[in-house]
Amino acid sequence: MAISFVDNFVLTIDGKKVASSETKDVINPATEEPFAVAPIATPQHLEDAVNAASRALPSWSATPVEKRQEMLSNLGDLVARHLQQFAELLSKEVGKPKAAAGKEVGGLVAWLKAAVSHSLPDETIVDTPQRKVVVRYVPLGVCAAITPWNFPLTLMAWKLVPALVTGNCLIVKPSPFAPLGTLKFGELAQQVLPPGVLSVLSGNDELGPWISKHPGIAKISLTGSVGTGKKAMASAASTLKRVTLELGGNDAAVVLDDVDPKAIAPKLFRGSFMNTGQVCVAMKRIYIHENVYEAVRDALVEYAKTVKVGDPLDPSNEVGPVQNQMQFEKVKIFFDDCDQNGYKFALGGKLVEHRKGYFLPITIIDNPPELSKIVQEEPFGPIVPLLRWNEEDDVVKRANDTNLGLAASVWSNDLDRAQNIARRLEAGTVWINEVQTTHWDQPFGGFKQSGVGVEHSKHGLYSWVNIQSLTLNRALL
Ligand code: NAD
Repeated sequence: MAISFVDNFVLTIDGKKVASSETKDVINPATEEPFAVAPIATPQHLEDAVNAASRALPSWSATPVEKRQEMLSNLGDLVARHLQQFAELLSKEVGKPKAAAGKEVGGLVAWLKAAVSHSLPDETIVDTPQRKVVVRYVPLGVCAAITPWNFPLTLMAWKLVPALVTGNCLIVKPSPFAPLGTLKFGELAQQVLPPGVLSVLSGNDELGPWISKHPGIAKISLTGSVGTGKKAMASAASTLKRVTLELGGNDAAVVLDDVDPKAIAPKLFRGSFMNTGQVCVAMKRIYIHENVYEAVRDALVEYAKTVKVGDPLDPSNEVGPVQNQMQFEKVKIFFDDCDQNGYKFALGGKLVEHRKGYFLPITIIDNPPELSKIVQEEPFGPIVPLLRWNEEDDVVKRANDTNLGLAASVWSNDLDRAQNIARRLEAGTVWINEVQTTHWDQPFGGFKQSGVGVEHSKHGLYSWVNIQSLTLNRALL
């Protein structure tokens, strides 16, 4: 059945489209104009979704895993047939350039298709004439996925595929700032999944807390900021819900003195400014060896000047606006702080006043103090500091001197030296000579306050199940 991607945004509960009497305008960040209306779920909608999921659970969890894998893979094909519509919608609601939006939808498709490689079969660990011991992986039950606005579909896929393939039912709650793509996905998914297996609820700020304390929900997997993660974990404690938290980062990139400045510049640029810098694993501090500091800084600035910032629907623009006004105001504080403290802007810094849209210039700060706000905190916008270093122990210490530990990267032509540094970095993902690559078989999660648990791989799958030891004593009584 054909669905519209431009209007009629509804909740999905128990396989049905559900409208709400309360709604909220969704703003296009490139124009600051509302362009669609999203439903606001009430506590009753949440109750209905939990009840529908509980009813669907016995049959879904008893469905052979191969069948669940097949349905998810078929859903991947269905999304692929709507890739352009999803991409256009993401472009409007998140402010992503169309090509990047298409890549994000492609990521959702790839993750759904990869369901066929996910399973946790029983493991027999003892099998003697006397006894048999089997380790079983039993679904947790009704679970919830809570996502942020920067990659609504990708980050949903990272939760949805392992949750459903392991036999759970799922309620997905997108960010109030970017709910539309997820709502349409929920609607589309009903063409493949049985009713109640997947519900999608959009809402306002109260919906997340209702979910994290709901006694009928066994687990929340949340991607968002550190502060939100702490609040969600605190309210999950009242029911001892399982939690997986994928939170913020302040990722260090360590550039050694043997790199070719011109060759590395585009990689550093993308690592810092892709998605307007609104990437949890964006480079947020670039430490450059003093022997190449000026050369790398200048090559990065030259490259950055060739990149166009503007309307994401215009294919010549590689960088769009910040996603919402709240984030725009938050990032501006970093610009002001650098300005007021007299830090040197190697590029950018000047805001274009009176321009419609939450646009900020690509901005590079030239060697600010280590204890400055721009080095210590996550801006989550198009601004990055460059810092000088000359001693390996010192740069490792500075890279690790944070309560966050999501990802990091090392850049060098000396792979042994790069690996020695990489192994000393305190982060869940460390890349050498590449950045922001992920795979469904590669664990992804944060050290320290960047998260709890991991997604992807067998380790991620384990977080969606109870582990049961089933012991059979063959001696007759
Ligand atoms: P946010 O923390 O404001 O919101 C994330 C989600 O949590 C939203 O759906 C929100 O409605 C919900 N929420 C808010 N309060 C809640 C509560 N008390 N209980 C339950 N849910 C609640 O984050 P954001 O501004 O949407 O996203 C930006 C942040 O997310 C950045 O810090 C970024 O680094 C982080 N992030 C992390 C990853 C990762 O994989 N580690 C990926 C993307 C973004």
